[in-house]
Amino acid sequence: MSEEIADKIARRIRAEGPLTVAAYMAMALHDPEGGYYAKRGPIGAAGDFTTAPEISQVFGELIGLWCAELWERIGRPEPVVLAELGPGRGVLMSDLLRAAGTVPEFRRALRICLVEASPVLRAEQERRLRQAEPAWVRRVEELPDGPMLMMANEFLDALPIRQFVRGAGGWSERMVSVDPEDRLVFVDGPESAMASLLVSGGLSHCAPGTIVEICPAALALAGAVGSRLARQPGAALFIDYGYFPTAPGPTLRALQRHRPVSALATPGTADLSAHVDFAAFAEAARAAGAEIYGPIGQCRFLTALGAGLRLAALSARAAPAQQRSLESGVKRLVDPGEMGDLFKVVALVSPGLPSPAGFDANVNTTVPAQQ
Ligand code: SAH
Repeated sequence: MSEEIADKIARRIRAEGPLTVAAYMAMALHDPEGGYYAKRGPIGAAGDFTTAPEISQVFGELIGLWCAELWERIGRPEPVVLAELGPGRGVLMSDLLRAAGTVPEFRRALRICLVEASPVLRAEQERRLRQAEPAWVRRVEELPDGPMLMMANEFLDALPIRQFVRGAGGWSERMVSVDPEDRLVFVDGPESAMASLLVSGGLSHCAPGTIVEICPAALALAGAVGSRLARQPGAALFIDYGYFPTAPGPTLRALQRHRPVSALATPGTADLSAHVDFAAFAEAARAAGAEIYGPIGQCRFLTALGAGLRLAALSARAAPAQQRSLESGVKRLVDPGEMGDLFKVVALVSPGLPSPAGFDANVNTTVPAQQ
């Protein structure tokens, strides 16, 4: 399968010229025949990477309580759309719904909508979440109107990025091409005014050789969700690994069986992702009309929501071996040396609401406008 998609990418490059990194990522991840997400179950010990909901049930449960509290703040609307982007194996949603059951009116009000591109993962979501009767859509724009709560864990990092390289006189776009032996290779395109225009003002004076990334799909998503929240009440929670403020440096990476591999060597069989530029994402959502809270570290967010208390409650009822695994799971999520710091949480909220749970009022960031 990997050869097929690698051949298909090489054929396209020979016919049409080098691809942007974003076009390469989109093909490698989503080609309907050989794309990574088209055929594989990527998540968990038997897959290529593991995520927070797979590590501890506390993650989804706390997000469920966060949603219930927001629902109260927006006036307990019934129904309310509960949307998840990229739900993976459906574990976060299933833990969330269990916790939501402690507030029965909230649970009853939920209309669950999932945005998922992978047929393999969708089938798994169908199995795990059947009782909740979710609806699936392909794009955020297709979600039903009305009050909405949204969350996305490790979704933004999967969206295709473009890379730009600082040359002697200006910026050029980094492209994917083929070498004489038909291997995929990175090449620098010509320096152009267009490339210089796309690089954020704050980064334009970087030293020659510097690589910077932008994620047009994440910015478009921030705009779509931000303008919806300006019109209809609700909130959206994005959790991912990434950086704040905007910074130079390539972060595109490929993972196979939990190990880093070359981003070009095995398209279709390795997960491709990039760190999220939270400053650019938050600014695009703010410009579209949402209020922004965070980003804050996952440690601070989960701790403020009561991760310690929830762990203690679960441990009190668990056998010793289970206690150890509960503890090590939560530790992995909050430890700054593991996921607690690199993983960040940003909330997009309809204007005029009090600050959501887990965020102090003073983390309502007004991201400095990019020059
Ligand atoms: N949130 C899950 C899974 C993270 S992996 C968890 O935390 O375990 C990324 C998820 O996003 C997968 O479900 C993948 O199929 C989905 N995905 C990636 N790109 C997508 C796109 N462009 N549109 C919709 N879903 C996408």
